[in-house]
Amino acid sequence: KKTAAIIGAGIAGIASAIRLANKGYDVHVFEANSYPGGKLSSFDVKGYRFDAGPSLFTLPHLVEELFEISGKNPKAYFDYIRLDEACRYFWDDGVRLTAHANQRAFAQEIEEKLSEPSVHVLAHLKDSAVKYNVTEKLFLHRSLHKISTYFNRDAFKGYANMHRLDAFTTMNSANERRFQNPRVVQLFNRYATYNGSDPYQTPATMNIIPHLEYNIGAFFPKKGMVSITESLVKLAEELGVKFYYNTKVEKIETSGNRVTKLIFDANTSAPDTYDIVVSNMDVVNTFRKLLPEAKQPERILRQPKSSSALIFYWGVKKSFAELGLHNIFFSNDYRAEFEHLFQQKTLYSDPTVYINITSKHKPDDAPKGGENWFILVNAPNNEGQDWEALIAQSRQDVLRKVSHNLGVNIADFIECEEILDPRSIESKTSSSQGALYGNSSNNRFAAFLRHANFSREFKNLYFVGGSVHPGGGIPLAILSAKIATDLVDS
Ligand code: FAD
Repeated sequence: KKTAAIIGAGIAGIASAIRLANKGYDVHVFEANSYPGGKLSSFDVKGYRFDAGPSLFTLPHLVEELFEISGKNPKAYFDYIRLDEACRYFWDDGVRLTAHANQRAFAQEIEEKLSEPSVHVLAHLKDSAVKYNVTEKLFLHRSLHKISTYFNRDAFKGYANMHRLDAFTTMNSANERRFQNPRVVQLFNRYATYNGSDPYQTPATMNIIPHLEYNIGAFFPKKGMVSITESLVKLAEELGVKFYYNTKVEKIETSGNRVTKLIFDANTSAPDTYDIVVSNMDVVNTFRKLLPEAKQPERILRQPKSSSALIFYWGVKKSFAELGLHNIFFSNDYRAEFEHLFQQKTLYSDPTVYINITSKHKPDDAPKGGENWFILVNAPNNEGQDWEALIAQSRQDVLRKVSHNLGVNIADFIECEEILDPRSIESKTSSSQGALYGNSSNNRFAAFLRHANFSREFKNLYFVGGSVHPGGGIPLAILSAKIATDLVDS
């Protein structure tokens, strides 16, 4: 039987393991942490459960597909609901609106609360769908680095519609052109943050993102985000995949055009030679740390990284009827916020605050009468800033803003607190500079400046995960596993 080693049990590593097991490989997964999932994991404090990283779940069929190709019924492992509302929005002057999943209701709500004609919103969502359909086949399902990608029917259809992608304007300019009310512009500009980009720089092509929430839908796994990881690990184990935890790969040895051997930090009884190796470690660190003697694809490795995040996990001993699963408290100056994040590389004093509360749908995530708040503010990537000072200041800024909007002193209700910042994101998952999504998409060539899912130098080495093609976020990380493993033995 052929053998495969996977470096990292992030979602893309697990998905790759499942796909390779289905191809008949004997698969071993090496994970530095004591738990699987990388960013997609969870923890408990004082009766509160928190999903550590991702909170928004889109394109669930990509998870289900992994069960289906394994001949299993996804529902027996993993279940989720479709959300009626995508998000609740709050502005400091008291304006609030609910982004209903239903397009007409959402457009109506925007017209009522912000006097923006509903036809503008509907046209935007329609355009988002067109963009998505052009991009999906061309960019998301195939390797951009194989010539065959460019010579097939889907690709030619894509080229014919290329102009519809709006790659030569920024997201903000396109949205300012479409909408009258700056708050509607702000609401739709926020989608740039779904891949860690800056709406004032990223091309308007990224206006494909609302399509995911309003046309296809936003979802919530009934047992929390971590159940995506847990159910897929269970499936992988049933397929015979072996997981080695607390086992960090320190180096990959090579000879000629092949990788030959893994060097581990721990005493492990695992074999160290494999027919193929798949790295789910951030591609920058795979080259810099595991393959320091190999040719370094500098242009790609030096691309600017996506934003990072500062997260406060608060156990709150009070419930707030006005809050839902996803809530946004907008900055009064969005442009200044992004200028701070991407140019000054610091936090802004009036940040946009995102609060995710899974206990709204999964009551056992918090003690009775309480709520588990996951509070995220966008942060620059780690360049050695004085994070202790920035975190202390940001905590005050967040408390002030949220207390103002909810009319109570939130600090009085915080029972326990944990913090994740760009440094700990970097150290816990080996992400270069703590970026959430690998490279940023702040220029129109970004899609072509992500590393391919295979190595040009070593014939039996592949790359998966949020730092390589097609991009960051759970759906794209899962797709990277499909693209990479489709290339194996092809
Ligand atoms: P990662 O999760 O980065 O995991 C890599 C794994 O490899 C880690 O477990 C690490 O320990 C292991 N590893 C690395 N090097 C080695 C080594 N040398 N030896 C052994 N093991 C190693 N996405 C969404 O879709 N929706 C969201 O709402 C969302 N929100 C986010 C919020 C936060 C705070 C964060 C941090 C991320 C968010 N994302 C979101 C992004 C999403 O989490 C990631 O894109 C995705 O989980 C990346 O998966 P991955 O497979 O690349 O691996």
